[in-house]
Amino acid sequence: MKKLVSIIISAVLTLAFMISPEALKVDKINFNNPDFIRGMDISSVISLENSGVKFYDAKGNEADIFKTLSENGVNYIRVRVWNNPFDKDGNGYGGGNNDVNTACKIGKRAADNNMKLLVDFHYSDFWADPSKQKAPKSWEGLTVENKEIIIAEYTENSLNEIKNAGADIGMVQIGNETNGGLAGEYSEENKAKLFKAAGEAVREFNSEVKIAVHFTNPENTETMKYFADYLNNYEVDYDVFAVSYYPYWHGSLSNLTEVLSYPAEKYGKYAMVAETSYANTLTDTDGHPNTVSEYSNNSGDNLLWDFTPQGQADEVRAVMNAVNNVKNNKGLGVFYWEGAWISVGDTSTLSGTQYTERLNANKKLWESFGSGWACSYSVEYDADDAGKYYGGSAVDNQAFFNAQGKPLPSLKVFKYVYSDVLRGDSNDDGEVDILDATAIQKHAAKLKDINETAADVNGDGAVTITDATIIQKYIAKIEVECNINQLV
Ligand code: CA
Repeated sequence: MKKLVSIIISAVLTLAFMISPEALKVDKINFNNPDFIRGMDISSVISLENSGVKFYDAKGNEADIFKTLSENGVNYIRVRVWNNPFDKDGNGYGGGNNDVNTACKIGKRAADNNMKLLVDFHYSDFWADPSKQKAPKSWEGLTVENKEIIIAEYTENSLNEIKNAGADIGMVQIGNETNGGLAGEYSEENKAKLFKAAGEAVREFNSEVKIAVHFTNPENTETMKYFADYLNNYEVDYDVFAVSYYPYWHGSLSNLTEVLSYPAEKYGKYAMVAETSYANTLTDTDGHPNTVSEYSNNSGDNLLWDFTPQGQADEVRAVMNAVNNVKNNKGLGVFYWEGAWISVGDTSTLSGTQYTERLNANKKLWESFGSGWACSYSVEYDADDAGKYYGGSAVDNQAFFNAQGKPLPSLKVFKYVYSDVLRGDSNDDGEVDILDATAIQKHAAKLKDINETAADVNGDGAVTITDATIIQKYIAKIEVECNINQLV
């Protein structure tokens, strides 16, 4: 009998070890701003769920991804908003089909899990970036004076709708990567008019909400400084100067800090990274080529980290640290871009006919639910790019979840940058489970090194068998006095 019990315990321990995630090492950052934003954009998540994608927690249970993100330290959600990403028959352009209605759903689920919302208005019907700033279909042909009126109305109405759906809006972004234009206006004077009209609408909506402007290509240091001067010259009212930072394109971290320090020091603005990401592998899992893959964006001077979950976490920490180093304590935070845009069907283990069948099934899902970066229906609005090259996710290898929706160890970086010690996690693998009690027992027998801060669960200054017993009770769901599984 004793032997049987021993075999069972051994089997349970083996299983626990197998499902226990890999360890992650992240050094704590001493943040100058206690409310430093550890944000994530997961705009595509509703369309993924509609495509049948399921997300899990670290224990392997199906879970609301918003809850999982919050539990892992994410405190802010960013959502892009397009005016009308649908054709006249109601077919979505893809990329999550992110209209105001989608933002309402994402904003509510974020608020339900204690996360604020950054509303990222593109003021376009589809992707706005340095090369594209096309006005929404219904704004085409309007004078800039009429656009000033309509952008203000649209902004305030949309924010009210999202707030009334239950979202906790903390910040609003006036345009996306607006280096070259805004809502179909390209002159400096006209862009400034729209920045101001939309910003006034945000102030009217709620004077506590921060207004962000957003540019990209921070490697062009002088251009970034020029934008900060330009906004000041045109008396554009805003709070946060934000840039994208993708390390394979956007220069060094020291340059990033310099670029963000300029508006902070000269104009007293907050500064942040509105988008960053990094690949945890070079493997594609959905049959649509990834931005970072073998021979593509996978080498260069500023790629300081491995393409592993640890490397992904290291990148996030490094970017947060660069923002934290912004002068005058004006570094506000970092948003990770599309940390959950995973595959709608894993192709990575398939070949031949099976691969083709899975890819075709994925294509149907992308077209039906908008879960890829673009659908064929976008051709009427963006014939030269999205209408030609539509397909799936180009960033499934930059998510914090694997192709089956399980969290990667790297997700914990959002928590570990604040505190790297979880009470009870004596073996430092990021989870409190039976292995931690075992580790303490082995430690008592001088067989194992452990994290003593984490292992001293009752806080009496010593690691003893009592601590192991408390962990065992906690695992057996017996109430204990200590804050197990909380950051020390
Ligand atoms: Ca892909």
